[in-house]
Amino acid sequence: MPPLQAEIAVVGAGAAGLMAAIAAGRTLVQHPHRARTAGIVLLDGARVLGAKILVAGGGRCNVTHHAVDETAYAGSTRPAIRKVLRAFDVPRTIEFFREMGVNLKREPTGKLFPTTDDAHTVLDALLGECRRLGVRLIHPWRVERLTHTPRGFLAERAPTAPTRSADHSCQDSPEQVVARAVILATGGMALPRTGSDGHGYTVARALGHTVTARITPALVPLTLPPDHQLRTLSGLSVPARLTLVGPTGKHHKTFTGPILCTHFGLSGPAALDISRYWLEARAEQPGSRLLASFMPDLTPESLDAELARTRRLSPLRFFESRVPDLPERLVRVLCSIAGIDPVAPCDHLDRARRKALATAFCALELPLTGDRGFTFAEATAGGVPLSELHLETMASRRCPGLFIAGELLDVDGRIGGFNFQWAWSSGHVAGSAAAHSVLGPTADTQDHHLG
Ligand SMILES: Cc1cc2nc3c(=O)[nH]c(=O)nc-3n(C[C@H](O)[C@H](O)[C@H](O)COP(=O)(O)OP(=O)(O)OC[C@H]3O[C@@H](n4cnc5c(N)ncnc54)[C@H](O)[C@@H]3O)c2cc1C
Repeated sequence: MPPLQAEIAVVGAGAAGLMAAIAAGRTLVQHPHRARTAGIVLLDGARVLGAKILVAGGGRCNVTHHAVDETAYAGSTRPAIRKVLRAFDVPRTIEFFREMGVNLKREPTGKLFPTTDDAHTVLDALLGECRRLGVRLIHPWRVERLTHTPRGFLAERAPTAPTRSADHSCQDSPEQVVARAVILATGGMALPRTGSDGHGYTVARALGHTVTARITPALVPLTLPPDHQLRTLSGLSVPARLTLVGPTGKHHKTFTGPILCTHFGLSGPAALDISRYWLEARAEQPGSRLLASFMPDLTPESLDAELARTRRLSPLRFFESRVPDLPERLVRVLCSIAGIDPVAPCDHLDRARRKALATAFCALELPLTGDRGFTFAEATAGGVPLSELHLETMASRRCPGLFIAGELLDVDGRIGGFNFQWAWSSGHVAGSAAAHSVLGPTADTQDHHLG
C-alpha cells in the first residue's frame, strides 16, 4: 500500500493530540480552498483511545482548575510556561468545552469537572469534534520512526495488529504516512500501559531535540520502610504540611493538604505534589529531608512550650482537645514513634521526651525509600525543554515543520487539573500554528484577494 499523504500528522491521540487535531482542523476549515481537513491524520499506538482521560479524576476527569498560572508547574522556566498557558487560558478552555456540549462545574477545591461527573463526556466530545472536522483517526498505529525528508515527514509504523479507523471499523491501513507538518504529542511515561511509554523521546531526539538528563515520575506515591509505623494506618487520610528541607536546613518546597497513609507509604494530594521535588532533591542534593507536620499552625518549639504547660493531661487527651480532627490512631502512632506512652500524664515527660513528641507531630522526618514508579504516577517530570521551541507556535527550533505539545515537554503540574490544562494550551497553540504553516504565511492575504 502506498504511503498515506497528509497535510498534518498528529502523533498521539491523548489530550494534547486531540486538542491539536481539533485546533488544526478548525483552522483549516476556514480555508477550504487552500487545504482539506481530510489532510489531518491522527495516529495513536493504543488499541483503546483516551485511556488517560477516562481514568483521570477517578473517572470524572478533572479537566482544569479555576486558577491556573505558571507557579503550579515545574520543569522549564516559569516565563516560558506562562506564555503558553496565556495563549489558551482557562476561560477559553471552558468555552471550548461548552461549545462542544461539555459544561464544567467548579468544586470547592477549585477543580473543574464535567457536570456529568463522567470522563466519557469529555472524551466523546473530543472524538466527536475530530470526526466532525474530518480528522482521520487511525489506531493502533504506533509510530516507530519519524524522519524529515525534503518532501516532508515520513512516519513509519511499528509492526502491529489490524488497525481501526475513527468509525471503529477494521480496515487496511498504510504502513507509512507522509505529511507536510507533524505535531508530536506522545505524552510522557506515566501509566505506560495506556500507550505513553516514552518512545516519543526517541522520536524527538532523532529529529534533533534533546531530552532532560533526568526523566522521573511526578505526582507519584512515595514509599516508606516496611516497618514504618505510618504504614499500619493504611487508608487513613489526614491534613498535613509536607516540607522539603535541603542539606543546609533551607526549606525548598512546602505543600499543605491531605496525605493518605497506605500499605507501602504515602499518597494523597500533598504527598503526590511534593514527590517530584523530593525525587529531584534526592538526586541532586543528597542529605535533603522530607518533614511532615500534623499541626501546621505550630512549630516544634511552640508545641513543646504548650506541652510543658500541660501537666495533668495525657498526650492522647491533650491532642484530642487541641486538634479534634486528628484521628486517635494517628496520635497513638506518632506517640509511639516518639517513644512516649500516650496515656501517661504529660508531667512525666522530661525535656528531651517532650521535644521528641513535639517533633513527631510538627516535624516528623519521613525516611522515604523511593517512589512507586511510572506505573502509579500521574505525570512525568522532564522531557523536551521549552527552550527548543518557538513558544508562540510550539514549532521546533531544531526541525522545521515539527510542533510539540503536551506531557512530552519538560513541564509538569500539580494535582488539580493543571496537567490537562497544559495539554489543552500547548495542544491548541501547536494545532493552530501547524495549520497556518501548511496554509502558508500569505494565506489570509490571498484569501482576502480571492474572496
Ligand atoms: C491515573 C491518572 C490520572 C490523572 N488525572 C488527571 C486529572 O484528573 N487532571 C489532570 O489535569 N491531569 C491528570 N492526569 C495527567 C494527564 O492525564 C496527563 O498529563 C495528560 O493526559 C497528558 O496528555 P498528553 O496528550 O500529553 O499525553 P497522553 O495522554 O499520555 O497521550 C499520549 C498519546 O500518545 C500515544 N503514543 C505514545 N507513543 C506513541 C507512538 N510512538 N506512536 C503513536 N502514538 C503514541 C499514546 O498511546 C497516548 O494515547 C492523570 C494522569 C494519570 C496517569
